Amino acid sequence: MDQKTAVVTGAARGIGLATADLFLEMGWRVVMVDRDAEALEAEAGQRQSVRAVHCDVSDPDAVTAMAEAAAGWAGRIDALVNNAGVAEFGPIEQTDFATWRRVMATNLDGVFLCSQALVPALKETRGAILNIASISGLRASTLRVAYGTSKAAVIQLTKQQAAELGEYGIRANCVCPGPVRTKLAMAVHTQEIIDAYHDAIPLNRYGTERELAEVITFLCSDKASYVTGQVLAADGGFDSTGVGLP
Ligand code: NAD
Repeated sequence: MDQKTAVVTGAARGIGLATADLFLEMGWRVVMVDRDAEALEAEAGQRQSVRAVHCDVSDPDAVTAMAEAAAGWAGRIDALVNNAGVAEFGPIEQTDFATWRRVMATNLDGVFLCSQALVPALKETRGAILNIASISGLRASTLRVAYGTSKAAVIQLTKQQAAELGEYGIRANCVCPGPVRTKLAMAVHTQEIIDAYHDAIPLNRYGTERELAEVITFLCSDKASYVTGQVLAADGGFDSTGVGLP
């Protein structure tokens, strides 16, 4: 029961999987949550000290069951990383309502539902919530009406959580990744977008999943025990430049 436990959503690949791995290296146990059952089982099966929970974070009943399974397996939950996300890029007139809802359902509703379901467990450990937004939530662009709006809402939701849950010792922070070459990003990043990012980012490159995992796990750890309500862009300096999103 002394071993800490993190719940990581969207843990079957990308930034979520790298985050799960870094928690494991830190000696934590990890509840790996994803809606892609096949990928989840394949990755969880290769690791010790993990529990895989198949769950669509936009489904309230599934999230309730996930929270029960996580707390039942681990006995304690010290951190929740709301990482599951989807990206669909399009301008206002080409974004139909079904697309808008699909993006909001995972990116925003999922963060609300998972946080709400796990707050009781996090109160017991004075744990941490870490929400993944995006630089698309900090800057407007011509392409990201649904995605950017969902991520801006996650930033505000983080501040609400920090303000409300601080009295229970729960910290809530938000990481805004810059571009990382995951399946999510490469499905929507055209060569034009990739080239523009390379030019605009002061470090002149995409980030890696591991670089994001380092920031995420730091903010969940006791090393960040006096940090809450913060929004940290891990983006190679992109947000500091004032350049528009490609
Ligand atoms: P990814 O597509 O590689 O991984 C996302 C994971 O989330 C997948 O395993 C997927 O199955 C899971 N998932 C999606 N919807 C889900 C749902 N409703 N319920 C449960 N699981 C679900 O993507 P990634 O790039 O690793 O993205 C992780 C997070 O980082 C996302 O929130 C994304 O918006 C954010 N982000 C990524 C980038 C980037 O460039 N990759 C930039 C900024 C922000």
